[in-house]
Amino acid sequence: MTTQTPLSIEQFEKDVNQLVNNQRAYFNSNATRSAEFRLKQLKKLKALLLEHEEEMHQAIFKDFGKSKYENQLTEFFPLIDEINLTIKNLKKWMQHKSVRTNLLNFPAKSYLVPEPLGVTLVIGAWNFPYNLSLTPMVGSMAAGNTTILKPSELPVETSKIMTKIINENFDPNYLCVVEGAIPETTALLKQRYDKIFFTGSPMVGKIVNKAAAEHLTNVTLELGGKNPAIFHKDAALKIGVKRMIWAKFVNSGQFCITTDYALVHKDIKEEFLKLTIQEIEKGNFSEENNNYVQIINSRNFDRVVNLIDPEKVHYGGGYNREDRRIQPTILTEVNLDDKVMQEEIFGPLLPVIEYETIDEAFDIIKRFEKPLAAYLFSDSNAIKDRFLNEIPFGSGGINDCVMQVSNPNIPFGGVGHSGMGRYHGKYSFECFSHFKGVLDKPTVIETNLKYYGYSEKRMKIMKALS
Ligand code: NAD
Repeated sequence: MTTQTPLSIEQFEKDVNQLVNNQRAYFNSNATRSAEFRLKQLKKLKALLLEHEEEMHQAIFKDFGKSKYENQLTEFFPLIDEINLTIKNLKKWMQHKSVRTNLLNFPAKSYLVPEPLGVTLVIGAWNFPYNLSLTPMVGSMAAGNTTILKPSELPVETSKIMTKIINENFDPNYLCVVEGAIPETTALLKQRYDKIFFTGSPMVGKIVNKAAAEHLTNVTLELGGKNPAIFHKDAALKIGVKRMIWAKFVNSGQFCITTDYALVHKDIKEEFLKLTIQEIEKGNFSEENNNYVQIINSRNFDRVVNLIDPEKVHYGGGYNREDRRIQPTILTEVNLDDKVMQEEIFGPLLPVIEYETIDEAFDIIKRFEKPLAAYLFSDSNAIKDRFLNEIPFGSGGINDCVMQVSNPNIPFGGVGHSGMGRYHGKYSFECFSHFKGVLDKPTVIETNLKYYGYSEKRMKIMKALS
């Protein structure tokens, strides 16, 4: 289904209702349950992605100037890796998982049986449009569900190519891309699903959560927030700044887990700023560089430019509206009341806030909602321990930035306003599965403790066994 055919929203709603019913009937036929089916579909998806790789690179370049190199690095390789990992481990993940049987139930076996949830809806965000749409879909397929995928409407070409790859090659009763913007997503959300997986802003996350509540649908929300990076006075500054700056300006800062603002100890601030500028000027992020990504659209461009207070620009501050590119920009003397600290930046601006004591830095972080990610640059074990014990965040890093996302053994997800639930690798399989808990008793032996004929003696035995 695509919005290119001008459907009335009423007709769209009817079609979507039919699609959901068809997927539910297909799911109920048990067609998606076997490991063989899941593996065959995952292998087919991988082959199709590799076949269309070049077109996918071109599509994203048209949408927001994302180069082939950067697309490979941040979208294509991680996606193919995720499929490979899933194919390799699926049979193991699908096995019953034994758990200990307590004495009271002895003799028996106890185990967990992973089961697909049913019809799932995956709603993607635009900043890594392939990854944020297809990676959750891989989890849904691995777990044996049917999936309706609604990619973000902002990168038009990537949405089109995903629709083409999937809708021309898979049975829509199993996998189907439905394109659309807010009215279509609103119509989609009226249907009953067994799982909704949403990536996007906390504001829309609330809308999705309310719609899911209507049907008591299981929901995963991958949201955003203001992610801090603390540079403590004992940080290995040169390498730390290099890592943080790459992570900050890759995708032009349109990255949910990148540093939103830096908290820098006053003793190292000068050196920090000097190294920051040096890293930016190495050329990787200059406007002329083909690898420097555009801002997704004019609305977001204006929003980010509006966050720049010209009086606080320490470096950069330039922009080109026609080209939708904003220079990497460092802001200093920033207060928590400044506009740039009132919302998630999601663009190439880095506010730098000075602190004196680590308590002061932690206090600033705690004034905001729990972030999706947090980073600490320090070599002190005591400071690391305090950071891990005292600061809530979805995922994070010590002496590195954003790279936790590239390790599939680390679950990815937020906490509080930055989201609920987690995925990637085995965690994606779990995210789209229910684990049935089973106690499996043999019939040859029976104990009598629970039956009528209660007595003090039995009570003592029960106490001893429990
Ligand atoms: P968004 O919330 O505007 O849109 C996300 C999806 O929701 C899109 O598919 C869009 O069509 C749909 N949508 C938008 N408004 C809607 C409405 N009123 N009703 C129903 N559906 C609606 O987010 P975005 O601009 O695409 O992405 C930026 C946000 O996403 C940032 O907050 C960022 O931090 C977050 N994000 C989070 C992750 C993560 O993995 N946690 C990844 C990328 C982006």
